Amino acid sequence: MKKFIFSLLALLPISAIAQYNPETLRTPVAQPAQRIEIVLPQVCGYNLYKADLHTHSVYSDGDVTPAFRVREAYFDGLDVIAITEHLEYRRHEGNMLKFLKGYTGNKVKKAENYNLINKQCPKGGIQSDQNYAVEEAVKASKRYGILVIPGAEITREPVAIGHYNALFTKDNNTIYDPDPLQSLRNAREQGALIQHNHPGWRRTTCAKTEFEVKAYNEGLIDGIEVANGGSLYTTVINRAFDENLFVAANTDIHDGTAEGYRFKGQLRNMTLILAKECTLDALYEALCAKRTIAVSGGYITAKEELLKELFLASVECTVISTNSNGSRTFSLANKSSLPYTFKTSPNALPITLYPMQSLTLSVAKDKTYDMTITNMFCGENVNPVINLEVK
Ligand SMILES: [Zn+2]
Ligand SMILES: [Zn+2]
Repeated sequence: MKKFIFSLLALLPISAIAQYNPETLRTPVAQPAQRIEIVLPQVCGYNLYKADLHTHSVYSDGDVTPAFRVREAYFDGLDVIAITEHLEYRRHEGNMLKFLKGYTGNKVKKAENYNLINKQCPKGGIQSDQNYAVEEAVKASKRYGILVIPGAEITREPVAIGHYNALFTKDNNTIYDPDPLQSLRNAREQGALIQHNHPGWRRTTCAKTEFEVKAYNEGLIDGIEVANGGSLYTTVINRAFDENLFVAANTDIHDGTAEGYRFKGQLRNMTLILAKECTLDALYEALCAKRTIAVSGGYITAKEELLKELFLASVECTVISTNSNGSRTFSLANKSSLPYTFKTSPNALPITLYPMQSLTLSVAKDKTYDMTITNMFCGENVNPVINLEVK
């Protein structure tokens, strides 16, 4: 018991146990920071783990450290974060070298391999330990109960080639090859899964390029971002399901998620992974089985079966009264942190059932309440239809 109490104390924020100075007025700012609790139901017997499968830190071109990424993910309500630095791009290299000059003297060279995307580079790519950011994140993750998926972004010219995240990598230092297709193969050889990132970025179409046709035909692509930051690529949803890819909605965050999401009252983009437990093995299995739901800015993308299950598991229907003509008045209570927008006919007013709120509706005798859920997509411009039994 003593040990138990000690461990509890160890979890308390330092401010709570530090000696109180009576001359110091403690303002509300001294309150411990608080995590957003995102409430989601089980779907098809699986837990929904909230993941971001695409993030950057100062070790490529992000603004913060990997440890900060982990802390931020914790406060944003996530369970899982992938650390996916660009393998070919290191924006801060020049500054880091300048900073170290006092220690390394004349040995300091100017930044040499900060951008391999547009120039020839030494074999092996950027000269540094590309696993370091992941290691730093893993170390930090122990304090927050967040799971870190090791990864890296294979980053090439965006229009013809594109960007690809290798997830569950074993050694980021052996992925780079001047030939991007060979880089994908190198990642695959170590058991990594490959996600096609932001397929419409800097392009006028999401249609496959010649390079992508080769990569897809070789079976090197396991998943695709239907959402990246504020972009929703609706035209790739059909491809995802026709070609058996997992769908992802990620932040690709470089600055802070507070600016892009929290300050706007938005949840950050999330790839919900349906798994039995939050371990690397279980999440890997779930992604191989393509069990994901992509959530971005209130839009929810997944296979039809998963979307219907998610809606029915989130929304509780209760009959309040049966009227003399047999019609029923009922409430729909949304017990989840996701919004659901629906229409009862093509020209009807869309109704949004907000997170943790309920509304009252009515339905004629012996009829189901038929809803098209317009913020859910199971194909390009395809929304699931729920024929709700009201009883
Ligand atoms: Zn990218
Ligand atoms: Zn990226």
